[in-house]
Amino acid sequence: MDKYALFGHPVAHSKSPYIHKLFAEQTNQSLQYDAILSPLDAFSETVQTFFAHGGKGANVTLPFKEQAFGLVDECSSSAEMAGAVNTLIMKDNRLLGENTDGSGLVTDLIFNGIELKNSRVLVLGAGGAAKGALLPLLKKETALIHVANRTEKKALDLARQFSAYGQVSASGLVDVPHEPYDLIINASSASLAGEVPSIDSRLLNNRIVCYDMLYGREETAFNRWAKEHGSARQLDGLGMLVEQAALSFSLWRGVMPDTTRVRQALRDYLA
Ligand code: NDP
Repeated sequence: MDKYALFGHPVAHSKSPYIHKLFAEQTNQSLQYDAILSPLDAFSETVQTFFAHGGKGANVTLPFKEQAFGLVDECSSSAEMAGAVNTLIMKDNRLLGENTDGSGLVTDLIFNGIELKNSRVLVLGAGGAAKGALLPLLKKETALIHVANRTEKKALDLARQFSAYGQVSASGLVDVPHEPYDLIINASSASLAGEVPSIDSRLLNNRIVCYDMLYGREETAFNRWAKEHGSARQLDGLGMLVEQAALSFSLWRGVMPDTTRVRQALRDYLA
């Protein structure tokens, strides 16, 4: 049976084995997908051992995505720009790297009927998730992306890096220009601590869609705050998780699973 894995630390909480089990059943693929806890100081060795024993592909999650980028023989432009890899593919004895997080986000936005072309997007956060999202968003011909981060310098660096691909500006959280945004994406990890990035609530209005990359059993802190301050609609990152997994699966197996049923199964599983 072909072997796949997810490497992370921690990893036990991950829903990826469940998602890939559903994809495999749905597409009649015979494969094994395990969550593997990699020691923090031995990621490279853990991955090499897995592939030396016949592993076909893997996902990589926190905190190893940047290290995975350093391990691959070749990678896509998305992974290159993000400096991070979440999908490893062993092909002809070469380790290939892809980053499906940002495309997963964009696919989920489109699934939810969000029009990205000519849209004005505010991205909160400048870590790995924000970085991975920028190129796929820009490829959808957004009119403007403003990146705001707690540590302003990281946002400015991102804007500089990505401005060759479209209109990207940046600031600290409290200095976000009061523009009419269509979409606010919370790519910060603030919700993990039950916190909300300190942007001005007057940036919200009843036309703005708010998207928190975090997901869980309960509404995230950011989405609760967005609803309280009048945003039109709030979405969480469950669909992004399923879509990035589906893109990894299709790269490994050459078949794209139907994500609609898996989204619902995961919602039910979390409920
Ligand atoms: P990183 O650790 O790389 O980056 C964290 C970012 O959050 C930084 O920009 C940091 O700012 C900011 N931040 C942290 N705490 C706060 C706070 N209290 N207020 C404001 N800003 C804060 O994390 P990732 O980019 O990898 O992940 C970000 C989020 O996206 C996480 O919640 C993660 O779970 C989610 N995610 C979801 C995925 C999905 O499939 N649904 C996939 C990948 C990520 P600073 O630079 O100042 O430290």
